[in-house]
Amino acid sequence: MFATIFEMLSESICAAPKAELHVHLRGAMPAAFFAELLGKHPAREALADASDRHRDILGSFPHLQPIMEGLLPAEQAAAALYGFKTFPEFLGSYLLTSYFFRDVADFRRLILGVRETLIAQNITYAEITVSLIEYQQRGLPLAEMLEAMDETAAAGPLQVYWIVDLVRDVGPDAALTLLKDCLARKPRSLCGITLGGSEHKVPAREFKEHYALAKDHGLGLTAHAGEAMGPESVWDAIRSLHVERIGHGVRSIEDPKLVDYLVEKQIPLEVCPTSNLKTGVFRSYKEHSVRKLYEAGVPISINTDDPSFFNTTLAEEFEHLEDVGFSEEELAGLLRNGFRHAFRDSGR
Ligand SMILES: [Zn+2]
Repeated sequence: MFATIFEMLSESICAAPKAELHVHLRGAMPAAFFAELLGKHPAREALADASDRHRDILGSFPHLQPIMEGLLPAEQAAAALYGFKTFPEFLGSYLLTSYFFRDVADFRRLILGVRETLIAQNITYAEITVSLIEYQQRGLPLAEMLEAMDETAAAGPLQVYWIVDLVRDVGPDAALTLLKDCLARKPRSLCGITLGGSEHKVPAREFKEHYALAKDHGLGLTAHAGEAMGPESVWDAIRSLHVERIGHGVRSIEDPKLVDYLVEKQIPLEVCPTSNLKTGVFRSYKEHSVRKLYEAGVPISINTDDPSFFNTTLAEEFEHLEDVGFSEEELAGLLRNGFRHAFRDSGR
């Protein structure tokens, strides 16, 4: 029979060239790749160097225990990893995966696996966020990781650039060391920095020096803000770090003056709707602030954040917006914004 308008729209979004500006490397890890890692690094060995604190945290999540004890076949273990029900459980799953990257070959294969999933979605330009410090903590050398990032950046139909996450939780000193070490090696595929991690624990203003340094080196500036915390955190990122984009920023809606400012200065938000539902920022797509922000004139791109963990794709994110009233023309505009708000030449 005839395809419905919705099906036609879904197909056209799937087929359209798309850009991702806010996607975390390990957050996009295919389940099959995690199963492969479990085969290579049995859980007990991989977790041998876990701190007592991490062991306690991970051990407190029932969905992770069978994985940690090596009780499940690899495929079932990978399914269990993504079977979290609460935000703390998601953080536990995310933390657990960090222990299975034991050498640069694992890191390189992760990049290649993620590239494949992006290409399969007709994503032609991606700025992928990478929390290098988490891999350094597992003993992976920075220089070799940067080489792998450069080597895998521009082969085939997908142009990849990298955004280094300074990770609030590691503190300003460790973050500055990481940034300086990265800059000294001049990776050509590095396009920007961001500030992920615990927004409620470490304020953006502690990273002023980092952002000034990155700016001097021609990097794009974005920071996660207005997700776990309200408008004051977005103001802090704007005033202290002079960011050019905001990661999430969806709670800006709580401050009309901030919304006006974002519109006046045309500061784009990297909006990740499903992520905000899964982490409890909003209860439903209908209650999500994206429509109000859009109607106010705030520049917006649509992204997935951690698509494997949140069981979503970029096309599905657009479909959710269609469900809450965005027209086909408006969705096309949002698709274009993904390219328009890029830090580097996105080819469009
Ligand atoms: Zn993010």
